[in-house]
This record gives sequence, C-alpha cells and structure tokens, in this order.
Amino acid sequence: MRRVYRPGIDFPVRCDLATRRKKVTSKETARTEWSAYRKSAKSRPLINALKEMNGQRQRCVYCCDSRSADVDHFTPIAFDFSMAFVWKNFILVCPECNRNKSARFPVDSQGRPLIIDPTLEDPWDFLILDTKSGYLAARFLEEDFDPKGDATIEVISCINHEAVIEGRRRVISRYYDALESLLESDDPVGLVGKLIREVREDEYGVGSWFARREGRDDPLFKQLRDRFPVIWRRFVREVCRS
Ligand SMILES: [Zn+2]
Repeated sequence: MRRVYRPGIDFPVRCDLATRRKKVTSKETARTEWSAYRKSAKSRPLINALKEMNGQRQRCVYCCDSRSADVDHFTPIAFDFSMAFVWKNFILVCPECNRNKSARFPVDSQGRPLIIDPTLEDPWDFLILDTKSGYLAARFLEEDFDPKGDATIEVISCINHEAVIEGRRRVISRYYDALESLLESDDPVGLVGKLIREVREDEYGVGSWFARREGRDDPLFKQLRDRFPVIWRRFVREVCRS
C-alpha cells in the first residue's frame, strides 16, 4: 500500500458527476447508474484522472503488485449510496483487491472508516514493514494493534499474499545490494545513480519506509545517513518525488 495524491478533475467531469449524483436515490439506482457510466465513454476522463493519480507504474494502490484496472468506491455503494459519484471516493485498484474489499467497510464507534485511505493518509502511520520477511503488519500501540492497520490488513488481505510479500522482499534486496556496493566503494558518488534507479523502480513504495520511517535505522541505511549525508538527502528527495 502506498500514499498517492489526488489531482483535481476537469470542470466538465465534475459537472457530469454532480448531475449523476442527483439521479441516485437508492443503492439500486446507484449500482445501475454506476454500471452504465463505467461502460460508457463518458467515464474515460475520470479513469484517466485516476491513472494520473496512480503514477506511471499504474500499480494497484492497495497491493502495489498488480496493474490497477478496477475502480473501487472507497466508501462502498452498499454502505453509502450517496458516495457513488463522488470524485474523492474513487481509487484505481487491481481486481483482486477490489474483490477482497468489496462491500466490507468497518468503521469505529464514531462511524469513521477503519480502512486506510491512501489518498488522504500515509499508510506507514498505521502499518509497519518487516524488512526480513517483506510482510506488512499493523502498528502495535500501547496494548493492542492499531485498529485501522489491523482492519485494513484483514479486509484487503492480498496486501500480504505470497507474491506481494515476495515482490517487497525483492525490492528490499535490490536496495541492500545498491547500498552495499555504494558503502564499500572508493567512489560512492559514482554509484548514487544505481541507488536512485532502485527508487524509481520501487513498485512497492518501500523506499519511503527507509527514507522517512523506522527503516531509517536499518543498519545499511543508517550507515548511508551517517557517512554520506549529501547522498542520503538525495535519496530522501528522490523517494518523496517518486
Ligand atoms: Zn491490488
């Protein structure tokens, strides 16, 4: 799961969504209208805006492993049909994550979502990365798991499917290789390009764990920070940009 930033949408698309919202009076009309809209060419500008939000890799926002091809209503139609045509409610995800989540939408005692919304929240506020296994786990608070991290992992279970974990491990291992070469080299500056390439090819967004979260204290990344602060800052800047 990675943080994404929602762009604005063009005025005609906003107007079109507003018009469609008026036709929605129940779950049934929401589903019918949504299905017709999704099949029509009218939905193309919306899909393009969502693709722009996902970035050049076009990966699923939740699992990051598969190509994003389905539009997920973050707040499901079954939970609140009035959100069927609301721009801030759309996320582009893979079919498997979409199936996983489906109409499941746990909320806390005050009705606030217990699923991480990666367009508004940084997933690392609720999750941690075990760099040895590639597994994502809910943060542990004083006495229990973070409820939002915990519910997200339970509902969108494919973020810890074997292939996804393996993908994260692969990216982590590439980072380590790049760092080991750089830290052992007589010409570390000459190897910065390799590290930056790894950031750009990091489909799983694990670089942000090492640049901004507890991963900063991972021995190799800590060495980079302590010994080569200029290269470290370049690494952090690149992660923030990616
Ligand atoms: Zn997915």
